[in-house]
Amino acid sequence: PLSDTAADAQVRADDRAHVFHSWSAQALIDPLPIAGGTGATFWDYEGNEYLDFSSQLVNLNLGHQHPDLVTAIQQQAARLATIQPSMANDVRGELARRIAEVAPGDLDKVFFTNGGADANEYAVRMARAVTGRRKVLSMYRSYHGGTATAISLTGDPRRWANEPSDGSVAHFFGPYEYRSSWGATTPEEEASRALAHLEQVVTLEGASTIAAIILETIVGTNGVLVPPPGYLQGVRELCDRHGIVYIADEVMVGFGRVGEWFAVNHFGVTPDLITFAKGVNSGYVPLGGVVISQRIAAHFDTVAFQGGLTYSGHPLACAPGVATFEVFERDGILERVRDLGSRVVEPRLRAMADAHPSVGEVRGLGLFWAIELVRNPATREPLVPFNASGADAAPMAAVAAACKQAGLWPFIHFNRMHVAPPLVISEDELVRGLHIIDEALTVADGYVAG
Ligand code: PLP
Repeated sequence: PLSDTAADAQVRADDRAHVFHSWSAQALIDPLPIAGGTGATFWDYEGNEYLDFSSQLVNLNLGHQHPDLVTAIQQQAARLATIQPSMANDVRGELARRIAEVAPGDLDKVFFTNGGADANEYAVRMARAVTGRRKVLSMYRSYHGGTATAISLTGDPRRWANEPSDGSVAHFFGPYEYRSSWGATTPEEEASRALAHLEQVVTLEGASTIAAIILETIVGTNGVLVPPPGYLQGVRELCDRHGIVYIADEVMVGFGRVGEWFAVNHFGVTPDLITFAKGVNSGYVPLGGVVISQRIAAHFDTVAFQGGLTYSGHPLACAPGVATFEVFERDGILERVRDLGSRVVEPRLRAMADAHPSVGEVRGLGLFWAIELVRNPATREPLVPFNASGADAAPMAAVAAACKQAGLWPFIHFNRMHVAPPLVISEDELVRGLHIIDEALTVADGYVAG
């Protein structure tokens, strides 16, 4: 990549003057101008390259500028750039069929949206219409999107300034073995106590008022929390017992992130609705959706579904979705993720946990891992406080800076670094990136008490 200071200055100036950024105090940010990318790498205008260990916002499953996806978009643009949702379209139909083929159980219809938040909005709307109930339960430590109901469902600080935008939401604690809310000491105990807690919440909120329980199959931004054995089965059973719709939010973990088309496939459970976005087409064109069970779809056979979007099933978004299926199958992406996760990532992260006093726990599946950093391994005090910003967040900022300095773009959230590279990353790049993280953890070790 060539240095291009003039372009850099222009991009920076336009951005600072006119682009209003997400979730930020506008005067306190300094977005890095990006000139291009390929595969697992992107670069700025000054010639600095970064290994993308964050897959942008964990959406870039097939990496930057995948030729098959780019070609699919180009060919679709040349053929039919757009068509409204009430007409039938070949790529929209093909993508829906392919998603139905890999979805579990009887989930076989797809409602397409523009992204993840609206997928969750519409899933909840379907659940409310089908059950005639209003309330929805969701987890603390979750993210479900930035729009009215999705932000209310969200169980992290991003909700605080936006509530109550949907008053019919109640939150519960999900399993989190490293910081068990119930003092559990084994995964089995954690699962059974988390289920007992959820059952109590259902009882106290009133089962007959609850339309849906929504949960991320593996909690993403809030910690890569892999549910202990039996937990999701227990949620399924509880929902069945009370006529509650089980919505699995797979916006972050669907489409190969954990080595399955849908993460629920790994756990052998079948929700009533699955929401997806991000990895469906690596975010090359905005796309999300809801995969719908036959039972719920049947409700809308004779009753109109009250919802829609101008761009539902946009052909320019669906074409790279179809190409995603072709690439996954041809290149064995799911097998690759399982192999790289268990053979390359897991042992190296476990070695880091042994070597670095700042590493409290590593956990994950496939190419989706968290390194949870602590100030004190005995008390498990987080390296930075919950919801840290500014000076409080300095230790994590220092770890991130060390990664960037060495050419790796990390995913940092509170006291955790996540490992979520594109699924097409080469083994050499993966090893190099993990080595950079290993070195950067020395910075975190410097904050460990005693
Ligand atoms: N659900 C989960 C689990 C997510 O991780 C996200 C985004 O990060 C969303 C929903 C919201 O998706 P979007 O930003 O496309 O609206």
